[in-house]
Amino acid sequence: MNPGNMQKERKNLTDRLIAEGFLKTPKIIKAFGEVPREEFVLPRGRDYAYADTPQGIGYGQTISAPHMVAIMTELLEPKPKDKVLEVGTGSGYQATILSKLVKTVYTTELTPELVEFARANLQRAGCKNVKVIQGDGSKGYSKEAPYDKIIVTCACPAVPKSLIEQLKQGGILIAPVGGAWMQDLKLCKKTKSGVEEKSYGGCVFVPLRHGKN
Ligand code: SAH
Repeated sequence: MNPGNMQKERKNLTDRLIAEGFLKTPKIIKAFGEVPREEFVLPRGRDYAYADTPQGIGYGQTISAPHMVAIMTELLEPKPKDKVLEVGTGSGYQATILSKLVKTVYTTELTPELVEFARANLQRAGCKNVKVIQGDGSKGYSKEAPYDKIIVTCACPAVPKSLIEQLKQGGILIAPVGGAWMQDLKLCKKTKSGVEEKSYGGCVFVPLRHGKN
């Protein structure tokens, strides 16, 4: 597919995500219109880059479906001065969408090959304010803590306590919480008096794994 068609397909997908109610905020809609998803999939998946489905990216992992990226990005209420932590870089697509809306994104990835994949994708997409860190992100990334927002893009059995600890007061964490086959998309807001939790329905993510840091 030529670049002109890619752009047309990106616009069609963005319009569809708006019509379906997944995309609402003008600056988030703009970010979806700008990030070339074809640069974050494997070469064989390029022609389907604008289908609203997840795609395999190797090593048993996936790039999330665009509507899921839209839901999570909207729930995170990204602000220009935000420092964001992502657990599960994968392709780097979600991090790149966020990078258009916040100051800096720190994103952790356990699989070294995917760290390389994501770094190459980010470079092709011209994204400069995303830092990819190789390691187990389930305990967060204390070096840059605290964060305004934290997004977990792999399924965890419960919200990791260390991630809540690395969240600023007033900060938002979003994570798929549940078993291996189905999770509940949970939003946690850290307040003066504790953590307020809200559920946003079923979702399916690859599981969070544990590894050496
Ligand atoms: N956000 C990604 C999709 C994430 S898929 C995108 O936009 O493409 C989930 C990713 O989490 C996988 O790449 C997997 O390797 C990674 N992962 C699993 N357990 C992890 C852990 N403990 N720390 C960091 N990354 C982890």
